[in-house]
Amino acid sequence: MNTWDNIERLVSSEGNVEKFVFSTDNAVAESVLYRYPTYDVRTVICCSTQSGCPVGCRFCGAGDNFARNLTTEEIVSQSVYLLDLIEKEHGVTDIENLQIMFMSMGEPMLNQKRLVEAIEQLHEKYPHAALLVSTSGPNVSYDAFFDVAQRIDTVGLQFSVHESTDQARDELIPFKRKLTLEQIAQRGERFHELTSRPPFFNYCVHEGNDTAEDVKRLAKLFNPDIWRATISVICERDETMKAAHDRQRELTSAFSAKMDEAGFTTRVFNPAGQDDIGGGCGQLHYVQEWMRNNPDKVRPSVGHNLPIIHAS
Ligand code: SF4
Repeated sequence: MNTWDNIERLVSSEGNVEKFVFSTDNAVAESVLYRYPTYDVRTVICCSTQSGCPVGCRFCGAGDNFARNLTTEEIVSQSVYLLDLIEKEHGVTDIENLQIMFMSMGEPMLNQKRLVEAIEQLHEKYPHAALLVSTSGPNVSYDAFFDVAQRIDTVGLQFSVHESTDQARDELIPFKRKLTLEQIAQRGERFHELTSRPPFFNYCVHEGNDTAEDVKRLAKLFNPDIWRATISVICERDETMKAAHDRQRELTSAFSAKMDEAGFTTRVFNPAGQDDIGGGCGQLHYVQEWMRNNPDKVRPSVGHNLPIIHAS
């Protein structure tokens, strides 16, 4: 493949999850490949849409620096490379449940034109793949995305909500040009109206946002008849997703039960196999190192000088 000059591969000790770091002289991207429990039963790929990220979420290793938008080819090539690899190494050509998620490094809606082109190309190549976009909700037009979501019925949408008030969310996600929670609720309902598919919201639970009041606020904003909820945990920049999950397992199940009671259909994010290869987006040391070594190719993101938020 000529799209990337270099590809690094990291395999978890359990072998269920692998991370890949793709780089050229002026950009770095990362993808994660999961099998549940085997590639032919269920394969999940998380791919990047930007190199670094301008949004600056305080828990995210990609949030300090932004290099550039990835090209359509660079976005598509990550999934193609991984699917070719599992065909070559495991002989898997027919996957029962294939999900490609635009939720590794970068904010997909800030690279929407290329995101849409990537969705179209990936759908043509893998017509049965679920193509899921996870966004922090920048305040831009979502028309191009809504258009492709209407044409391709395997396209899904998830918002990273993480907090039940705008004030708390502002601390976590300092990017100014973002939708309020109420505006996110409206965009999700619009997606539902146009596609008849449920939008999801992701909520990172911690000891400061797990009360009945939080659930009440969420249920008021996000109609449980329309929305589905994903419950996960905040992963520190220097810990693995699995370590964060183990640390806060009780918290997530207790909160998930409260959400169920409020009428939500919830799923708890399962970090299966993420034992020793870095947690969420941009947490690979290689990516961090690439950013440090290429100061002339990156610019600081909005939250660069703000303190890192640690899960309580
Ligand atoms: S969590 Fe996503 S949107 Fe936030 S800084 Fe990281 S990559 Fe960007």
